[in-house]
Amino acid sequence: MNNVTVLGSTGSIGCSTLDVIARHPDKYRAFALTASSSADKMAEQVLQFEPVFAVMANEDAAARLKTLLPSNHATQVLAGADNLAMVSRHDDVHQVMAAIVGAAGLLPTLAAAQAGKRVLLANKEALVMAGPLFMQAVRDGGAELLPIDSEHNAIFQSMPVAYSGDFSQHGIRKILLTASGGPFRGWAADKLDAVTPAQAVAHPNWSMGQKISVDSATLMNKGLELIEACFLFNCAANDVQVVVHPQSVIHSMVQYNDGSVIAELGQPDMRTPIAYGMAWPERIEAGVASLDLFEIARLDFEPADEVTFPALALARQAFETGMTMPAVLNAANEVAVDAFLREQIAFTDIPRLVQSVMAEHVPVAIGHLDTVLAADEWARETANRLLTKDFPHAGLNEVGS
Ligand code: NAD
Ligand code: MG
Repeated sequence: MNNVTVLGSTGSIGCSTLDVIARHPDKYRAFALTASSSADKMAEQVLQFEPVFAVMANEDAAARLKTLLPSNHATQVLAGADNLAMVSRHDDVHQVMAAIVGAAGLLPTLAAAQAGKRVLLANKEALVMAGPLFMQAVRDGGAELLPIDSEHNAIFQSMPVAYSGDFSQHGIRKILLTASGGPFRGWAADKLDAVTPAQAVAHPNWSMGQKISVDSATLMNKGLELIEACFLFNCAANDVQVVVHPQSVIHSMVQYNDGSVIAELGQPDMRTPIAYGMAWPERIEAGVASLDLFEIARLDFEPADEVTFPALALARQAFETGMTMPAVLNAANEVAVDAFLREQIAFTDIPRLVQSVMAEHVPVAIGHLDTVLAADEWARETANRLLTKDFPHAGLNEVGS
C-alpha cells in the first residue's frame, strides 16, 4: 500500500488528489490530510478516508474539527506547522502531494524532499521562493520530484526519460510553455482597471483556487511557472518561450534540434497530472474522459501581451536577478492578490505593487533557508507599507466594514 500525505487536502488540487486516491483503494491510502481552517470540509474527508493524521494550521481549527468527529474516531487531530512537517517526513509515508497555496507550503514541502519522499509538486510558490535550496534538498534527500502543475507535468512527459538537466546533451532547443491567456486575454489595458475579483477568478478553462485564478488573470501565474520551469529543468529564462494557447488542450511542449516538437495534450483536468505523478512510471485511471479532437477541431497560438500584462516580465526579471528576488516577487504578489480580493486595490495595482517592492529590494545570495524567509517577511512588510502609502484605493473598502 502506498501511503500519501495530502498537504492542502481541502483545496482544489487536494480534492482532485483524493478523487484519484478513492479510485484506487487497492494501491493508495490517504495517510495524512492537512488544511488551513476549513474544518467542515476536513471532517467530511476524515470520515471518508480515515487517515492516520489530520493536521489543521492552528489549534482553533483543530478544536473545531474534533467537535465534528465522533469522540472515539481513530484519526489523530493535530495542529501547527511542526506537525505539517512531521506528516510530510513520517517514515510510513511514500508520497507527499504539496498542494498548500503560497509560501505557507514551503517548509512541509521541503521536509518531504529532505526525507527522500516522492514529492508531487503543485505548490509552485515554494519552488519560486527557494529554488536552489529546494532542488538541492531533493538531490541530498534522494527524493523523486514529480511536477503536478499541468504545464510542467507536460514538459516532464515530453522530456527524454533520463533527462540530465542539460539541454544540449539531449538536443533540446526550447521549452514551449503554454498559457491560456486568462479571462482578460485580448482586453485593452484601460479596461483592466475596473475588473472585479469575481471576473478575475472566473477562469475560462480551469477550475482552481482563488489565488492561482487571479495569478492566471494577471499572467503572474505564467511568470511563476516560467521560474518553476527554469528551476525544475535547469535552464535559463530565454530557454522558455511562453505561447498563448487559448484552448488549453496542449499543456506545454519541448522543441528539439532536429525540428521535432513533443507535446502532451489532454482535458483541462488536474486529475491527469496528479494520477501521472502518483503512478509514474506507470499509468492509472484518473476519471478523465479522452480528448475528442473532432469536437476541439482547432488549436490557436499567439504571443503573450507583456505590455498589458506586465507581471510576466517582472517574473522573468526576478529570475534573471536571482538570489532573493524571486522570493520577493512571490511574497509581494501574495500580498497584492490578497488586497485585490478584499477590494483594497485595483487589478492593475497588482503588478504595480510587485514592481515597487522589487525596486526597493537589495537581493542577497541564498545560502540558507533563513535568508529566504527573511526576504519573504521583508517583502510582505514592504508591500503592506506601500499599500497604505502609495496606492490611492488601498483601504477604501474597509471604511464602514
Ligand atoms: P486552494 O486555495 O484551492 O487550496 C489551498 C489549500 O491549502 C487548502 O487546503 C487550504 O486549507 C490550504 N492552506 C492555505 N493556507 C494554508 C496555511 N497557511 N497553512 C496550511 N494550509 C493552508 O488552492 P489550489 O488551487 O488547490 O492550489 C494549491 C497549489 O497548487 C497552489 O500553489 C497553486 O499554485 C498550485 N496549482 C494549482 C492548480 C489548480 O488547478 N488548482 C494547478 C496548478 C498548480
Ligand atoms: Mg499551470
